[in-house]
Amino acid sequence: MSTSYLLVAGDARIETLLSLAAGTTTTAVVVGPRAVAETVAASGVDAVTWLGEPGDTPLEAYAVAVAGIVGAARPDLVLASARPADRVLAGAAAVALGAPAFTMPTAVAVVDGGVEITRSVFGGIALETDRVAGPAVVVVDGGGLVAGADDAAGAAEIAEVAAAPVGTLTVVETRPATRAEVDLGKAGRIVAVGRGLKSQDDLALAEALAAKLGAELACSRPLAEGLGWFTHDRYVGVTGAHVAPELYVALGISGQLQHTVGARAAGTVVVVNTDGNAPYVKEADYAVVGDLYDVVPALTEAL
Ligand SMILES: Cc1cc2nc3c(=O)[nH]c(=O)nc-3n(C[C@H](O)[C@H](O)[C@H](O)COP(=O)(O)OP(=O)(O)OC[C@H]3O[C@@H](n4cnc5c(N)ncnc54)[C@H](O)[C@@H]3O)c2cc1C
Repeated sequence: MSTSYLLVAGDARIETLLSLAAGTTTTAVVVGPRAVAETVAASGVDAVTWLGEPGDTPLEAYAVAVAGIVGAARPDLVLASARPADRVLAGAAAVALGAPAFTMPTAVAVVDGGVEITRSVFGGIALETDRVAGPAVVVVDGGGLVAGADDAAGAAEIAEVAAAPVGTLTVVETRPATRAEVDLGKAGRIVAVGRGLKSQDDLALAEALAAKLGAELACSRPLAEGLGWFTHDRYVGVTGAHVAPELYVALGISGQLQHTVGARAAGTVVVVNTDGNAPYVKEADYAVVGDLYDVVPALTEAL
């Protein structure tokens, strides 16, 4: 039977990892408190290797220890969640194995003699399936929290391995982020603005329209990365958020593939642009060829 190793850092959000490892002999390497190791042990894995209480050591500092364990075991598949510490562990494991690492695939299958990984390429317009003969490291969205069992009966054995963290790193403070993160992926309606907007003050136009529509505000990448008018979680596209609202209103956005790919799952797309030849005007369900400074206030008023 094929073997898989799950790298688990901090908590037991591993539902997806478990489903991808189904049918393999599964070992979880847990970096974090004992309670996490116990929850993981009761989740259906075959074995747990626990690296001891981390105290105030950052979990990333266990990367070399994890790499040593995984490198010695040489499993067919290593799975990790796409979170900061887990990704560091996955990278170290890939180096130890001399294995390719894949991030955020759309499908993973353990097949005879290897692993098949399907991922989105060319900005999301195609899917590529690769077959790896030998170990592969795959980073995915780990999924939901697995529930712990009421008693330890039937749980996998936990082997404690004394692991030395790298360096003398200490977490000195942990505090909540001061800004509220927005999850555009869950928004039912979105009003997105692009470089057609001339100044940050003019965002009030889009905000008024969004308020009438009960929509979240979003943007194209230059407004978040170049101009800094929005935080990074607000831009849509291949390197930004992938959204699926029933309504996507794009104001002054030209419609380059890198942007539109992120809104491909939208129900109805409405575009306002002065340029009738802009790609988004051609792709949209409804397009108003006009100046957003005229069209948006009129639309808001009408609504
Ligand atoms: C590797 C890579 C990854 C990228 N990832 C992303 C990504 O994830 N998301 C993303 O958005 N971009 C991404 N980009 C950038 C992308 O290629 C485009 O440059 C960007 O989307 C353009 O933003 P825009 O449409 O706001 O600006 P522009 O392309 O400059 O378009 C502005 C539009 O506004 C119109 N306009 C001007 N004035 C008005 C007005 N008064 N009223 C109405 N319309 C007006 C213009 O006709 C024009 O069509 C990426 C680029 C690269 C190279």
